[in-house]
Amino acid sequence: MQIIKLPQELINQIAAGEVIERPASVVKELIDNSIDAQAKNIQIKIQDGGAKLIEVQDNGIGIPKDQLATAFESHTTSKITKIEDLNDLMTMGFRGEALATIQSVSEVTAISKHSDSEFAYKIRFMNADEDSPKPEKTAHQQGTTIRVEDLFDNIPARKKYLKTPATEYRHILKTLTNYFLIHPEIHFTLEKDGKQVFNLPDIKGSLPNSLHTNRVSQVMKNDWAEEMIDFFYDGQGIKVGGLASLPKFHTKKTNHEYIYVNKRPVYDRGIVKSVLQGFSRYIPHGEKVPFLISLTIKPELVDVNVHPRKEEVRFINPYRVYSAVEQAIQKALQREVSLETNGGYSTSDSEKDIGFRRLRTRSSGKPDFLRDGGNAGASYSKTNSGKLRELKFNKRLSTFDVQNSLKFSEKALESMDGAVSEIKSISQIFNKYILVEFESELWVIDQHAAAERITFEHLKSSLSDEVKNTQHLLVPEEIEFSPAEIEFLKESSDFFEKSGFELDFEGQTVKVKSLPADISGADIGKIFREIFDGAEDLGDIDVASEKVQEDIIATMSCHTSIRSGQSLHSDEILSLVKNLIKCSNPYSCPHGRSVVWKLVIEDIDKNFDRTY
Ligand code: ADP
Ligand code: MG
Repeated sequence: MQIIKLPQELINQIAAGEVIERPASVVKELIDNSIDAQAKNIQIKIQDGGAKLIEVQDNGIGIPKDQLATAFESHTTSKITKIEDLNDLMTMGFRGEALATIQSVSEVTAISKHSDSEFAYKIRFMNADEDSPKPEKTAHQQGTTIRVEDLFDNIPARKKYLKTPATEYRHILKTLTNYFLIHPEIHFTLEKDGKQVFNLPDIKGSLPNSLHTNRVSQVMKNDWAEEMIDFFYDGQGIKVGGLASLPKFHTKKTNHEYIYVNKRPVYDRGIVKSVLQGFSRYIPHGEKVPFLISLTIKPELVDVNVHPRKEEVRFINPYRVYSAVEQAIQKALQREVSLETNGGYSTSDSEKDIGFRRLRTRSSGKPDFLRDGGNAGASYSKTNSGKLRELKFNKRLSTFDVQNSLKFSEKALESMDGAVSEIKSISQIFNKYILVEFESELWVIDQHAAAERITFEHLKSSLSDEVKNTQHLLVPEEIEFSPAEIEFLKESSDFFEKSGFELDFEGQTVKVKSLPADISGADIGKIFREIFDGAEDLGDIDVASEKVQEDIIATMSCHTSIRSGQSLHSDEILSLVKNLIKCSNPYSCPHGRSVVWKLVIEDIDKNFDRTY
């Protein structure tokens, strides 16, 4: 690796425009350099929104002593020598002027130990006009530390355009977030005003330019980031890989649209549109979803030099790219959308509309994706073979992930009764939600959704349990049904018995002698109506299928005794939380709506610019 001076002609061709707009641009350039230097560990320190200090330390290849000063001269780079290379260059920064520019607007200290060198050297530029300072021997592990202090202090005209430290820090964080997400193979730490705010260990075996769910959820700390859909496409010189939230997390606006083209974060309206196009039958019109997408495109198919800070690109064949993205999303949604994403189409649907009724392929008042063709995976239709399509249920949420994500622990459970409680407070609000303060998190639990989940799991386990928790009715309830319905009930009597019902048939009438205790107060007639109404043709329902059974149980669970809008006693609240914790999937109700909304303290702090 040789650092050389670029020919003047090339300097003009590059015509870079403003490189350093604000502290975040410095951060970006330094990180780019560290990544180019093959660093696997990058430590960032920020003070006063970067105005006072920006320090980036890496364990990359390092800069040899004799090139330490050269690196800070204008238009020096080890990365390109002629313009044709620009297109082939897959490394990140290549204007050869970042360090020079930074050095001219701040006080820079560079310390580096090159991999071939025995010693580390340090160089300090106190003043932009000074002659090149001489490197001094110092101690440093292999790699480079660049410390940028007092940014724009020597240029008051620029300095006064700096916003508050909090704002500048936000810009830095936004910049860094992009790197955190697309480089799971790098261990990043971020320290803000002396306090560590991120420690993101590298994810073993991950590749640069890949999006890794663990990294994404660590960085995002949002609900949607914990259960994302992955999508991919490979063909015609384009590779697409990405993660999108489940449809149920659609929102009016989102800041979370991360697009990378050949590792470079960019914004491209066309890509946003094609992602949403892919989602169009799964979310309401005009709504958005958080997503991350990484495109790898043959360099000759994309022009990266259309924006001074490379924040946009131009695709040579945009249609090809956009349709690749749309296809990738659609395929993934067809594969993934299942019962639990049901909450995605309308939160205003009344509960009874959500359960078994979705089994109908066509009916009015249905979301578009169910109405039109029903190939979204959530509808219930016959496959070519004539067999009933299997409904997926909560497949995406493994018990392990879920419990992990909620940080439930036996300890927490025990301590709820014990003297030292990790649950600091627990209460009900609006007769609807339960608030739990647990460690550094605030949980908002939807009481009805939680009760539904609990009931669902009870009913489900009763299918295999010998002992049933049933409620006997002193006076059996008599309900009339149509012949087809009676036929269905008789055929399914084994299943209903297992779930805790005792049914007697007398002509068109069914006598309910007992029912599962979890739904003891419920209107049984209504439950059965919902089960029947949910199916277009009762003869089509294969009650032996586990998925169908789960869907019926989910419908029953809607009728659990704890409703929204109901005031609860403290012991009821406590037992609800306890029972929820015991669930194998405490995370979402049987219809896929969230049960728990977790707020981490950092998220709360962020709203107040509080860091302690
Ligand atoms: P460019 O990145 O476009 O080449 P810069 O001004 O950012 O230009 O950097 C100049 C040169 O300094 C780079 O080409 C590289 O050789 C060297 N350099 C800068 N930062 C580092 C680093 N963290 N590790 C190793 N080399 C570096
Ligand atoms: Mg650079």
